[in-house]
Amino acid sequence: MRSQRKDVVAHRALVFVILLLVAFTAGCTGIERQDDGKIVVAVTIPPEQEFVERVGGDHVRVILLVPPGADPHTYEPPPGIIADLAEADIYASVGSGIEFELIWKDKIAAMNPGMLVVDCSRGIDLISTGEGGHPGTDPHVWLSPGGAKVMVENICQGLIEVDPENAETYRRNADAYLDELDALDREIAGALAASGVERIMVYHPSWAYFARDYGLEQIPIESEGKEPSPRGIEHLITQAKEGRIRVVFASPEYSTRSAEVIASEINGTVVLVSPLAKDYLANMRHVATAFAVGGGS
Ligand code: ZN
Repeated sequence: MRSQRKDVVAHRALVFVILLLVAFTAGCTGIERQDDGKIVVAVTIPPEQEFVERVGGDHVRVILLVPPGADPHTYEPPPGIIADLAEADIYASVGSGIEFELIWKDKIAAMNPGMLVVDCSRGIDLISTGEGGHPGTDPHVWLSPGGAKVMVENICQGLIEVDPENAETYRRNADAYLDELDALDREIAGALAASGVERIMVYHPSWAYFARDYGLEQIPIESEGKEPSPRGIEHLITQAKEGRIRVVFASPEYSTRSAEVIASEINGTVVLVSPLAKDYLANMRHVATAFAVGGGS
């Protein structure tokens, strides 16, 4: 199953490279580039789009590679995005080992050698995952305000490198947004401390960085990227009861089936929280409040 999937990925990768070559060659021979004087920044996920737009303001145009609602662990880009990527000045990669980037980042970079590839996770202490949904490192670095701050700083440095004329603007915008992230961090820490919450049960294990930063335990339902077995569900129900869990958190991007089974067994509810919403500050406030209310204490 795994190797079959690898073959499919390899095949699609080859098709993608050929299409890139065609698009790149066409670009050289006169397809009109949209020249609005803006720095074109490709990003992988919607929260990064927010970060880049907040730092870059009017000086940037963002190309979002994994669209809203799609899953960056499994998404494969359509060929239509290729012509756009040929004009990107920067690729702000998440950099923490998310599958989309493990498969595509080098290919995209190779086709556009003039593009600056920024590793937004540079400076973040990555959580390693020997098992579970993400062998290697846990990619969900953006889901703690502390991680987001590092990403914003790396994005700011990348923009200054490519467009030094506007360095002051980028610095000022980044500092303003970093202040908002600090305020968010204090607010979340305060809300969680007041609630006494110690653990959260979540379908997709996106919240390890959040849990690390705020002293919580994350209990994931999904196991190695799949629904748990009936036996696994039994175990989770026991854990939920023992941990005084009242809410099972699921995401709009993933199945809610096993979360619903567990919630009904503990007389709890399923609440949706998104790990990928573009409106980062408001989403994180919403998530923290939901965890404070529905976590186990
Ligand atoms: Zn994820």
